[in-house]
Amino acid sequence: LAYLDPETLTCPGCAKSAAVTWVIGEGPDTKPGAPPDYIDLLETGPWVSETTNTTPVWAGKITCPDCEETVLARP
Ligand SMILES: [Zn+2]
Repeated sequence: LAYLDPETLTCPGCAKSAAVTWVIGEGPDTKPGAPPDYIDLLETGPWVSETTNTTPVWAGKITCPDCEETVLARP
């Protein structure tokens, strides 16, 4: 079972705001309240993404295309 989780990110440098879309995956054995089995980045919108790992949880960096400020970094 997977569902989409849109998240609006705002650039700390220039206040640009746009959404990204995460895919949250929960397996049949995921206990209630447990973290999801996987999280992946589906759509980055206008942001520039740098992915360093995709399984089980997306890791990387999202930067602003306008001012190159880091908007999101995981972990
Ligand atoms: Zn910016």
